[in-house]
Order: sequence, then C-alpha cells, then structure tokens
Amino acid sequence: MVDAVSVDAVVVGGRCAGAATAMLLARQGHRVLVVDQDTFPSDMKLSTHLVWHAGVDLLQSWELLDPLQRAGTPLLTRFSLDLGELVLSGNPPHTQAHAAIAPRRIVLDQVLRDAAAQAGAQLLDNTSFQDVIRDAAGVVTGIQCRQADGTPLTVHARCVIGADGRGSRVARAVDSPSAHEFTREQCSVNVFAYFSGVPMDGVEFYSRPERMGYAWQTNDGLVMSGVILPGREERTEREGLEPLILDELASMAPDLAARLKAGRRETDWLRVSISTGARKASGPGWALVGDAGITFDPITAAGITNALRDAEHLSQALHRAFEDEAPLDQALADYATQRDNTAVPWHLFAQQMAELLPPPPELVALLGALAGNQVQIDRYFGLFGQTVSPADFFSPENMQKIMEDAQARA
Ligand SMILES: Cc1cc2nc3c(=O)[nH]c(=O)nc-3n(C[C@H](O)[C@H](O)[C@H](O)COP(=O)(O)OP(=O)(O)OC[C@H]3O[C@@H](n4cnc5c(N)ncnc54)[C@H](O)[C@@H]3O)c2cc1C
Repeated sequence: MVDAVSVDAVVVGGRCAGAATAMLLARQGHRVLVVDQDTFPSDMKLSTHLVWHAGVDLLQSWELLDPLQRAGTPLLTRFSLDLGELVLSGNPPHTQAHAAIAPRRIVLDQVLRDAAAQAGAQLLDNTSFQDVIRDAAGVVTGIQCRQADGTPLTVHARCVIGADGRGSRVARAVDSPSAHEFTREQCSVNVFAYFSGVPMDGVEFYSRPERMGYAWQTNDGLVMSGVILPGREERTEREGLEPLILDELASMAPDLAARLKAGRRETDWLRVSISTGARKASGPGWALVGDAGITFDPITAAGITNALRDAEHLSQALHRAFEDEAPLDQALADYATQRDNTAVPWHLFAQQMAELLPPPPELVALLGALAGNQVQIDRYFGLFGQTVSPADFFSPENMQKIMEDAQARA
C-alpha cells in the first residue's frame, strides 16, 4: 500500500457533498482523492432523502438524473401543503427539471460516487481522516489518515475539502468558527418509517401548530412517511412511538393515515433529532461542503440540495484557482461568501419552521391571502424547492403584493 500521495484536492467524506465535489473537479481534469471511513455501497438511514428542485436541476445538468431514474427513483411532480383551513397545491418556479426526487441514499450516493470514479477521481473506502497537515505559516497543505489495516496515509493537496458531515472532524481540525447555532431543544424531532402498498403521487405535507406530517415516494415502490415534533416536547418511550405517530397522522391527515394503515410498515420507526449550525466555509488551504459547513434542521429537507450546490460552487472556485485564473485564497474566500449568502438564509428559514410554534397572525394572514393566487403559491413552494429565496419571498414588496392581490380578488 502507498503511504503518501499528492493531489490537487483531497476530499474527506464521499457521499452527496464529497462525491459531487470530487466528480466536478475530476471532470475538469483535476487530480482528486476521496477518503471515507465507510464501506460502499452504503445506505444512510438517518435521512428522509428528499432532494428538491434546485438539487434535481443540478443532478440533471450533471447528467445524473437518468441513472437515478433507471435505478427506480420516481420523479415527484405534485406537491400539496395542507394547513387545516386551506390546502395549497403548486410547483416551485424557476426550475429546469420541474420535479423533486427522494432516492434512497444507497442509490444517490452511489450514482455520485460512480460518476466521480468515471471522471477519474480516486475513491478510498475504509480510510479515516485523522488530522490536517499545515506548513510553517499555518496554511493547510494535506491530511493524515488511517487505512483499513491501520496503515497511515499522508495526502498532500492544494486544497483539503471537508465533506465529512455534521460532526465534521475536518472542521474541528481547521478550527472553523461557527455561527447561527441551535440546540436540539430548539430544533425538531423527526420520526419516520418506510411503507409498501401505499397509493400516492408526489409529496404531501400537513402543517398544524406544533406538528407536521409528511409522505413521499421513494425507490422500490416504497413511501417514506413521518411526523415532525418540537424538540422541546417530552419524548415518548420507544414502544409508544407507533400509536403516537399513527394518532398524530390520523388527526391531521386522516386520509394519509388510512392509506398507511392499509399498507405495510417495512422498517422500524426511526426517531432523530440534531442540533444545527453554520461553520466558516473556507480558510487557507481548506474548504467545507455540505453538512460539514452548514447543518439544516431536517424540517425543510434542505441538506442534500445544499450539499450539491456547495459542490457546484466550490468546484467552480477551485477550478479558477487550479487554472491560475485567481489566487487560491481569493477563490476560497469567494466560495465562502457565496455559501453564506445562499445557504444561511435557508438555514434560518428552516430553523424558524423547526420551532413549530403556532404561526404569528401576520403569517396566518399571509397564507390565507395565498388562496387562489397560483403564482405566489408556486413561489411559496419555491422556498422549499430552493428556487425562491426567503429574502425575495418575504420582502415587504412581495408581502404587500400578495395582500393587495388578495384584496383585489375578494
Ligand atoms: C432525520 C434527518 C432527515 C433528513 N432528511 C433530509 C431530506 O429529506 N432531504 C435533505 O436534503 N436532507 C435531509 N437531511 C440532511 C441530509 O441527510 C444531509 O444534509 C446530507 O446527508 C449531507 O451530506 P454530506 O455529504 O454533507 O454528509 P454525510 O451524508 O453525512 O456524509 C459524510 C461522509 O463523511 C464520512 N466521514 C465522516 N467522518 C469521517 C472521517 N473522520 N474520515 C473519513 N470519512 C468520514 C462518513 O462516513 C460519510 O460517508 C436529513 C437529516 C436528518 C438528520
């Protein structure tokens, strides 16, 4: 086994953020090594894996939507949000693919990894990151890792990319400062399972004060369904989960609950809660992509789409640096600014939803005013599809327009 290699970029973590970044860099002719402590193909159970329109558009532009569909991933083109008094149905605007998808992670991550390997990236499984290497000026110049048999491996690289998820060891090793942090109690608790034999077409959301229910189709004819509860709420014992969740669904979504009951639950209920936050996305010789850089509350299902977008933005920035079109420090700083401007507002939007508090009167009025205004309903769905920014949708001008349009229709 080799004990030292030299590449343009080394990526720690080879799932949606890391494999996508490696693929894009390799496609541009750069030498890339991806290390992951896991063995692949590998599923990731703690995710409901809905990829929204902005993410699907990227996958399509990378020519990876076809392989995902060939692997039995349905295109999700119908979206409804049941608010009790009102049901909104629509589609995010400004999209090429006009669909979301919810591929199992063993499918999505493998499609990205295969594409990275095909483009010339080298992928090493069973290899865990230990620490970064720095030069005398403190600039990160590579990593130390440990291979499956315990052999150390040194990788020298012009850029070290942390794509190692929300507990990122790379982020800690480079001392990336964090901001916008929220505790588990401030975040949501997600309880979900897979079902077979459940008729459905698309994505269904049910929103009630302090509760949210959802269901969507995934691979193998299965439906993923669950309930999201506030993190501040006392936890039910594990054996009480099934009746709790089915009762919750029955009260907010009786039709969905009946369909789930008539089908078959194929997995145990999983209950997951996390803390969230954003870290500085780059520094001298290093960058973070995906959850390593920013972790969203799962309530808006934003993480994978964000990981794919980070991959696109970082690979473009690094390409400029590797082609000597920009200094590396500048390219990395530009990437961090771009990441902050794009992702932080969606992180804060998700966080606001994650509190699951009764909606303030202005929001109740706004949602009521959306009834019959398909353009604005679609734009509201665009907040989730990540094709309409929170700053744009919630701007005073747009709020005023929605209310004026509603008055004109009354
Ligand atoms: C309950 C729940 C539901 C969610 N549902 C959705 C959803 O519906 N839609 C959505 O978009 N997002 C969802 N997310 C978020 C989504 O799962 C993440 O945003 C996404 O997995 C981030 O991808 P990533 O590649 O950055 O990191 P990860 O997918 O976490 O991958 C990190 C990789 O790094 C590797 N690694 C870690 N440490 C090391 C090390 N020291 N050395 C080597 N390798 C290492 C790991 O083995 C892993 O393969 C959900 C999250 C949760 C918790």
